[in-house]
Amino acid sequence: MPEDIHKAWLRTVAVLALLLVFAGLGGAVLGHPWEALALAALAVIAWHYWRLHRILARLTARRRLPPPDGSRGAWNELDRLLHRTQDETRSRKNRLLEMLRAYRAAAAALPDAVVVVERNSQRVLWFNEIGTSMLGLRYPESIGAPLAECLRPLPLARWLASGRHAEPLEVASPDGSSTLSLKLIPYSDSLWLLVARDITRLLSLERTRSDFVANVSHELRTPLTVLHGYLDLMDDDGQPGRQPMIREMQQQSRRMAQLVEDLLMLSRLESADQLANEDQVPMAAMLDTLRREAVALGHGRHRIRVEDQAGVDLWGSARELHSAFSNLVSNAVRHTAGEGGITIGLRRAGDGGVLLEVADSGYGIAPAHLPRLTERFYRVSASRSRESGGTGLGLAIVKHALHLHQGRLTIASEVGVGSTFTCHFGPARVRPRSADAGPER
Ligand code: ADP
Repeated sequence: MPEDIHKAWLRTVAVLALLLVFAGLGGAVLGHPWEALALAALAVIAWHYWRLHRILARLTARRRLPPPDGSRGAWNELDRLLHRTQDETRSRKNRLLEMLRAYRAAAAALPDAVVVVERNSQRVLWFNEIGTSMLGLRYPESIGAPLAECLRPLPLARWLASGRHAEPLEVASPDGSSTLSLKLIPYSDSLWLLVARDITRLLSLERTRSDFVANVSHELRTPLTVLHGYLDLMDDDGQPGRQPMIREMQQQSRRMAQLVEDLLMLSRLESADQLANEDQVPMAAMLDTLRREAVALGHGRHRIRVEDQAGVDLWGSARELHSAFSNLVSNAVRHTAGEGGITIGLRRAGDGGVLLEVADSGYGIAPAHLPRLTERFYRVSASRSRESGGTGLGLAIVKHALHLHQGRLTIASEVGVGSTFTCHFGPARVRPRSADAGPER
């Protein structure tokens, strides 16, 4: 017990004792000591009840009461403690209210639409101001209404059903004037946050960028073809002194032509939302083509092996798939010294899908580089990539081509041991191999 409370307690007991002593003495003088003592005790009890009543009144009062004054007895100390606790609770409540108001003001001022949704019923609990103009929500009608119904022009039902696993969704705004990116963020067990962002400008910038790259690449094609032609003519003009220079120019212009072709391929893959033509791709023929390409590219210096264990075909675009696989094979050849081994394998995956693997016993890649390999122009060794005729775009093309087939690329590698690049395709892309699809000759 704190010192001051202890003192107040002693003071109260001392006052009680003094009162009883005075009452007893006074009563004895008047000849009625017991009656006087009983009266005094009754008075003390009545006073205590009155204090108890005051404390209860203070506890139940909703308004702010002044701090107690007067003697520092036990009841007054209790009063003072209650007053202090009430004061602290009130100021904590005010602080929390202020914080809540500030958070609401911040959420209301966000440039993105924010909607708080009750998870189970998927009803709208709150939305900020911009939710009205961007998503067409209306106050107070939309509060408590099912979200899918409030945003009815948008195709949200299936997306909302996937809940916490929902990928960001790109949709046209309800009035059709802009493109929105919607994100569902579960931020507690029972609440979701729907955040909608206007990405019209971003998409238009992205389109301008990819159109620019595609146009420049396209425009470069003709001058490069002309240059090739003249260089080939000069190669035949019988002046041996100029041969090394012409060879170097031919090599560089070939690199430029390859870069242009890769850029065009990449921008075509990037701008496509889905594959234009899908067909059964005969994989036996594909594997054979890849093997022949690997032999030709490595001038027969590597040990090339094809392992076709899956015995199935793929459903998709032969051109895009060939582009992806041949980039992997070309990488394996270019990043593996002569005499090294390269295996191109096709096998079934545990989930019913198919894996196409290109494994080499080449230089390998340090783990730190692996997450960035599919970025455009990312190279572990720029000089080795250039020397071997690389453009730095191969794996970016692979990633996009697989993405269009709902596939993905995984990379396992160890420096000095080799690398394995695996293309994963889901069961929906697998078809039984047709009998007439033998290897190309
Ligand atoms: P590049 O044209 O330079 O090969 P890619 O996008 O195809 O460009 O590959 C990016 C980088 O990844 C390469 O520069 C190389 O450093 C590394 N890489 C790709 N494939 C292999 C491989 N099979 N073995 C070792 N490194 C590789």
